[in-house]
Amino acid sequence: MHKPIIVLGGGPAGGAVVLGLIRLGYAVTVIGEPRPFDAVEGISERVVDGLRGAGFRKALTAIRAPSARNATWNGESNSANTERLISRRMLDEGIWQDLRNAGAECIDGRVTSVEQGDDRLSVTYQTHGGSNTIEGAFIVEARGRAAPSARLKRFRGAETVSLLQYWQGPAAEAQSAAVSFDDGWAWMAMTEEGKRYLQLTFDVATANLPSKAELAQFCTQRLLTIPQAAPFMANADPIGEPHARTSTPILCEEAVGDRWIRVGDAAMAVDPLSGNGIFQAMSSALQAPAVINTLLKSPERMALAKVFHQSRVNALFYRFARIGRDFYQMERQWAERPFWESRHHWPDNIPMHIATTFDEFEVKTMPVVQEGEIIAADVVVTPDQPLGIWHLGGIELAPVVLAVKQRKEGQSLESCLSDLALESTPHTAVLNWLQGMGLR
Ligand code: FAD
Repeated sequence: MHKPIIVLGGGPAGGAVVLGLIRLGYAVTVIGEPRPFDAVEGISERVVDGLRGAGFRKALTAIRAPSARNATWNGESNSANTERLISRRMLDEGIWQDLRNAGAECIDGRVTSVEQGDDRLSVTYQTHGGSNTIEGAFIVEARGRAAPSARLKRFRGAETVSLLQYWQGPAAEAQSAAVSFDDGWAWMAMTEEGKRYLQLTFDVATANLPSKAELAQFCTQRLLTIPQAAPFMANADPIGEPHARTSTPILCEEAVGDRWIRVGDAAMAVDPLSGNGIFQAMSSALQAPAVINTLLKSPERMALAKVFHQSRVNALFYRFARIGRDFYQMERQWAERPFWESRHHWPDNIPMHIATTFDEFEVKTMPVVQEGEIIAADVVVTPDQPLGIWHLGGIELAPVVLAVKQRKEGQSLESCLSDLALESTPHTAVLNWLQGMGLR
């Protein structure tokens, strides 16, 4: 009997890999335990699209309708946006149900150790019935921030912690709010059932956080100093103990090996400020089945598949780190305070987008995904798109760029494209793209 691929953790990233691998015909065993606390998180429409595109169905039923979101940043308030609030417990239960329905072997258990020898991969896990060990053909590490990584090379941002305090009050209209303050920021959400999730994010090194026993009082006192927290605290009381969540940005610089891969927060975790965590977790997971398929079936393209995964994980991390930096920079009231100062210039000062001219376009051979595998193809690389652009509207761009670079003096773009015999509709898309680069 073939050994299965073993996925550790059944959150959005692990779940997306399981569904993708089953579509490619693999037998998959997923071992997961529920997260130890419930949290409410906010997601955008593109996360809903991403979950749907990945094949989740039951998980989608856990997502609420969009509700009002107020942001107060740099002293200015904005209520133009909405977000969808999700109970992570309900979302994760829906994901687990989807994985069962798709035919994965789902084991409710806690992974306690992973052994990776030259010819044997095994995972030991604990269930109510005791300890078990299974062997697999490949291991997908998707245990989120809890995934062990001390032995791997990592790049970390300023150490950050988010304190989540639960409050209960009367039924209310669902809403959320984000607010900056002198040494951090708050995100607050209220659901129709009157549950309130009040989350304060601080710099670990400079916030003078109290002992665990005093955390509840500390959170309540800080929240009382934030005017925008008042509607979330009105007629409500704190319940239970606050929960501390690490929210330091972390990039795992070694996210793939011959017989293992890390996805989601286990590969790279971003600052929750951007509200993009689930989106980025899904992004690194959706590409993983093609990488795994190549590592298992086409050893001659192993190095290429690894470069593909790591370069995309790195690019995602820096993209979201820079989005976070630019957002922190918009808050100028406390620019000298340690929390803000250490985040205004991290990870670097490279702009989110680099203005590019056509002269800087290069054609390079890079890894791309084709029909569930990683292959090498000629793509167009620009300073703003270092991973390359392969197709536009179904047309391969590398031959177009080479032809335009070699066109005769005075030859129009239209005649140059006609020589390439492109089909008519995509031809327009390609022409518009070239003209957008300033070419005539
Ligand atoms: P996870 O969702 O963490 O899934 C990992 C799974 O593995 C869990 O089910 C866990 O229980 C399981 N697991 C862990 N250890 C073991 C083990 N030993 N054995 C078996 N199973 C195990 N993202 C947003 O999009 N919007 C937000 O508003 C938002 N707010 C956030 C606020 C904070 C404070 C933090 C820290 C993060 C926030 N995020 C938010 C990010 C989001 O939670 C993560 O990016 C996302 O859940 C990552 O998905 P994942 O599948 O990689 O990991």
